[in-house]
Amino acid sequence: MTKIDEKLEPMLAEVLRRNAGETEFHQAVIEVLESLGRVIAKKPYYADHALIERLCEPERQIIFRVPWVDDQGQVQINRGFRVQFNSALGPYKGGLRFHPSVNLGIIKFLGFEQIFKNALTGLPIGGGKGGSDFNPRGRSDGEVMRFCQSFMTELQRHLGEYTDVPAGDIGVGGREIGYLFGQFKRLTNRYEAGVLTGKGLVYGGSRARTEATGFGATYFVSSMLATKGMDFEGRKCVVSGSGNVAIYTIEKIRQFGGIVIACSDSNGYIVDENGIDLDLVKEIKEIRRERISQYARSKGNGTHYIEGGSIWDVPCDVAMPSATQNELTGKDARALVNNGVVAVGEGANMPCTPDAVRVFQGAGVLFGPGKAANAGGVATSALEMQQNASRDSWSFEKTEERLAAIMRNIHDTCAETAEEYGAPGDYVLGANIAGFERVAAAMTAFGV
Ligand code: GLU
Repeated sequence: MTKIDEKLEPMLAEVLRRNAGETEFHQAVIEVLESLGRVIAKKPYYADHALIERLCEPERQIIFRVPWVDDQGQVQINRGFRVQFNSALGPYKGGLRFHPSVNLGIIKFLGFEQIFKNALTGLPIGGGKGGSDFNPRGRSDGEVMRFCQSFMTELQRHLGEYTDVPAGDIGVGGREIGYLFGQFKRLTNRYEAGVLTGKGLVYGGSRARTEATGFGATYFVSSMLATKGMDFEGRKCVVSGSGNVAIYTIEKIRQFGGIVIACSDSNGYIVDENGIDLDLVKEIKEIRRERISQYARSKGNGTHYIEGGSIWDVPCDVAMPSATQNELTGKDARALVNNGVVAVGEGANMPCTPDAVRVFQGAGVLFGPGKAANAGGVATSALEMQQNASRDSWSFEKTEERLAAIMRNIHDTCAETAEEYGAPGDYVLGANIAGFERVAAAMTAFGV
């Protein structure tokens, strides 16, 4: 059941028809349109000139073949995508995801979210997303390199520091960005550092970019808690996932005095009541590239690993879903509420189903949606672009300070916008409307 304003209903029907079967994209559009009814009631001109219809249609969608040779000498074929969704505020900006689940609908949902997220950062970046159905799991270093080179051989013609600037996402970290940048440089004969972000420090990367999404999400939750006179000190936290976002969320929660007792991967979850040993998680995931089940095996006493099942059955004060879309269902949300959760911050993109969001908001739980809470990654990417443009390199402290200020600003903008539109405490509405208004103002200025 949606509560879409009746003026927006025909438009939604058209978007659903035109993008048939793309369920995640539908979900992301519906959530934003649910918020926009209040905007057009107050500012009806935003419904003119098909502005919202234009916003829901990507400016450009690129699909391409990615042939590569595996270690057995066999030719493999994958599909590559780049959706250049909206460039009203700056060059298209958003990550690349390498995962077998990737299809056009997933990339469109991520690209659509990225428009509003990037607008919320207040930095000059438009929205885009890309990736491939390539599965890096179990692939050798050489195979990953050859795949990245083939992927970039096609993608490079669509990129540029003033055109489109990709970064990482699930399955794309420092190693992949290195191979992608190397191939871009080789093909173009240009050291155009600002064409990709998430680069290694020695070749134009930014300090704190690796940590930024997790650190930023924790700053956002800390700001939400502060509105109720609370903080992380002594609070039990559960962080799903064990990739880049989860790892640095755990690190920052620990710095804030919280205790993270569980994390996971797509096979199962571990519980360590003494607090997760982050060095061990980093070693297993980042160096050994193994499954999280190894944690319990290495650690022994006081820890356990549960294959399958739901990590959200673990009672906690703060939940930070940081794995993937729709990982936290209505049932999970009810379990968390019954166990006394006070705040939920989305480290991943759209990890909570619409039903779960309704359960949290209905129960008065502080809920930070991904497009606000996890904006620290892309915000720091924009800081990396700034450093590249000025041929400079900032200290960790300066970069983290900027990140923290941006996250506070995003929090306050969402909170104030929600208040202004008669829904105090509704960060979903606040994020959607505040992001929309910035993009809409620029699109209106440019004409059709
Ligand atoms: N993939 C990240 C996100 O979802 C980062 C994108 C970027 O840095 O461009 O926002």
